[in-house]
Amino acid sequence: MIKVIERLSEWKKIRVGRLYAKKTFGLVPTMGALHDGHAALIKKSIKENDITVVSIFVNPTQFNNPEDLKKYPNTFDADLELLNNLKVDFLLHPTYEEMYPYFYDYKVIETNFSKTLCGQFRPGHFDGVLTVVLKLLNLVKPNKAYFGEKDFQQYKLVKGMAEAFFIDTKIISVPTVRTKDGLALSSRNMRLSKDELKTAAYFPQILKLKLSDEKIKSLLEKKGFRVEYIEQIGSRRFGAVYLGNVRLIDNVKI
Ligand code: AMP
Repeated sequence: MIKVIERLSEWKKIRVGRLYAKKTFGLVPTMGALHDGHAALIKKSIKENDITVVSIFVNPTQFNNPEDLKKYPNTFDADLELLNNLKVDFLLHPTYEEMYPYFYDYKVIETNFSKTLCGQFRPGHFDGVLTVVLKLLNLVKPNKAYFGEKDFQQYKLVKGMAEAFFIDTKIISVPTVRTKDGLALSSRNMRLSKDELKTAAYFPQILKLKLSDEKIKSLLEKKGFRVEYIEQIGSRRFGAVYLGNVRLIDNVKI
């Protein structure tokens, strides 16, 4: 049975206790509304570590758009069932007050890569992400922490932060889990209508075509997407689009 921890004081006692002194820990940070993409990270952690800790914390500091935060799906009971079925050891489910004892007076800022791609359009987003991930890494002190390639820029920034601050956790990436027709699984997909879901599947298909970024952008627009950015960096193309008011991101190797 999974142990659900709401109080960080309780967690800290467990973490330093004798029971876990010689165990290896894997951490999977999430914002809940769990799906098979999250499950892939969790399964990898369970395989590679003695103890797996999943966190569910909808981190307000990374939402540049208050509406997006308000509408963020909450499926806590189903999440708990999934975590139990996967045999996760601990769920960290702290409150904002616990996670931000000094509110947002202290934060982590990356000044280079975080200003590109999604960072250009979501000011402060990656400051919030890096800040909460640093808190979680310090709380859990995991040997390994798992991040999805779906949020490739986030994975790179977290890895960079861990190296820059000599954090003793190996940051591991996990390939994007997709539906049969190629759409990257995302908690935000729940907000798409049936028709929008069909259209959304064109996003990765078009993104991986061997064409210029400009051409990709215009093909997406023809399908009804509002394109925020399309940008190839090295052999990977990144994109963010809107369908209605739902923002989708993806990246593919080309
Ligand atoms: P989130 O709950 O959206 O913050 O995501 C938590 C973690 O799951 C992040 O590391 C995401 O990159 C990862 N993730 C989300 N969707 C997928 C997916 N479709 N495939 C693989 N990893 C994912």
